[in-house]
Amino acid sequence: MNIVLLGAPGSGKGTQGEYIVEKYGFIKLSTGDMLRQEISNKSEMGVELKQMVQSGLLVPDLAVMTLIENNMKLHSNSKGVIFDGFPRTVAQAILLEEYLSSLGKKIDAVIEFVVDEESLVKRLSNRFNCAGCGASYNKIYKPTKIDGVCDVCGGKEFVVRADDNADVIRKRFEEYMQQTALLLPFYDQKKILHKVVADLAIDQVAKNVNFIIDNVIGS
Ligand code: AMP
Repeated sequence: MNIVLLGAPGSGKGTQGEYIVEKYGFIKLSTGDMLRQEISNKSEMGVELKQMVQSGLLVPDLAVMTLIENNMKLHSNSKGVIFDGFPRTVAQAILLEEYLSSLGKKIDAVIEFVVDEESLVKRLSNRFNCAGCGASYNKIYKPTKIDGVCDVCGGKEFVVRADDNADVIRKRFEEYMQQTALLLPFYDQKKILHKVVADLAIDQVAKNVNFIIDNVIGS
């Protein structure tokens, strides 16, 4: 089972992806997380792409495809893969399709998280992650259960992403509208596009996502 999560930055795909991993035992591949890891490891790729990532520009298609292939090889036995933040261009979607097809696989469903722009800014400017395990939170929508303590690992240190600031947020929207939104008609034509309203309570969004996945598994 291969599922792509699509949506503007801040639409909640990362959080919902974490829930899918928990419920279905799938793995989640986030190219944004992989790139941030490369940057923090100061790898050759990380050093080369740091500036682009931190200014909200899309990095070259082949770079993210390489990261995806390497990670898929590491998890070749997984029963399902959630792609979070990838593909982001039609060229990436075609590369992914070709790669999956070489493994005898395909994309089974694409879930679009639909949310209006105002709530996106509110979500992005209030989000933070645990510095230890990376669990994601939001001061308004998903605070930690105990103030200042990570629900998952108990860590007390938190970080805010370097690209969650007003100028970069605007650039990331622009990239989404110019490039990634073109994936909607691409996948719609293939009859695998599903939409969820992402402006609802997180649990309700999760229920709607599960409904879609259960239907795809059952079909
Ligand atoms: P994200 O965590 O998905 O919001 O990604 C953070 C940043 O990483 C983006 O603003 C881009 O600079 C870069 N990035 C992540 N995924 C991709 C991708 N599939 N294609 C190109 N750039 C990406």
